[in-house]
Amino acid sequence: MIFLVSVLALIAGWLGWRYWQRKVRYAQPLPVMYPRLLQEHVAYYQSLSDDRKRLFEERVNRFLHDVRIEGVETTVDDVDKVLVASSAIIPIFGFDDWYYPLTNVLLYEGSFNKDYQTTGEGRNILGMVGEGGALQSTMVLSKPALHEGFANDTSKGNTGIHEFVHLLDKADGATDGLPEHLMVHDHIKPWLQLIHQTIREIKANQSDINPYGITNEAEFFAVVSEYFFKRPDLLQEKHPELFARLEEIFRQNPIKADREL
Ligand SMILES: [Zn+2]
Repeated sequence: MIFLVSVLALIAGWLGWRYWQRKVRYAQPLPVMYPRLLQEHVAYYQSLSDDRKRLFEERVNRFLHDVRIEGVETTVDDVDKVLVASSAIIPIFGFDDWYYPLTNVLLYEGSFNKDYQTTGEGRNILGMVGEGGALQSTMVLSKPALHEGFANDTSKGNTGIHEFVHLLDKADGATDGLPEHLMVHDHIKPWLQLIHQTIREIKANQSDINPYGITNEAEFFAVVSEYFFKRPDLLQEKHPELFARLEEIFRQNPIKADREL
């Protein structure tokens, strides 16, 4: 009996301690200059209604408390942090609660190869989500590519968003371009057909979608998601069906200030 009471007391104490820890962590306010940095660097944030801006800031704050952003042979400043957090929050802004299985984001000074080397052959990777072992919960991004994605308003690309969409895709166990947990079951097959039809158009040079999307279904999903969040108006005009499917998957309309469907 005494043993049972002690065990229950220990569990209660541990739960209380965890609750207190979370409360303390999330009670830390967003650094005062971050709303200004978001306004200056993140077009997606600029176009939000005031209410939604506050919510976006809150989620950026929470992300930055959960995930460490470190530089590998490069420095990390507040703009870097704001851009990484924005890349993470933009694709999940339509969901009330979403936690990435991520503990670290490493920023590299340039592109790297599949072994994360920044010198030598094959340095054409701009972003990557770690696979297996200690790298399982680590994302690696090229710092210049991260910045380029937010600096150029007319491009359809954003490396940061691309990598976080891979994580979203991976949440059901497979990075395969089919985020099954986010789709109505009956829509999965038409989505796959739409992917293959659009890949055929890209191969026939009849598309404005980044040709990297033909690599496989997962890359296709990541590439059209970049387009969806970067140039939603253009995607809706040129590819209305793709736009509608992505709206459904991400549960948001990036053209509207409140993002409601
Ligand atoms: Zn990719």
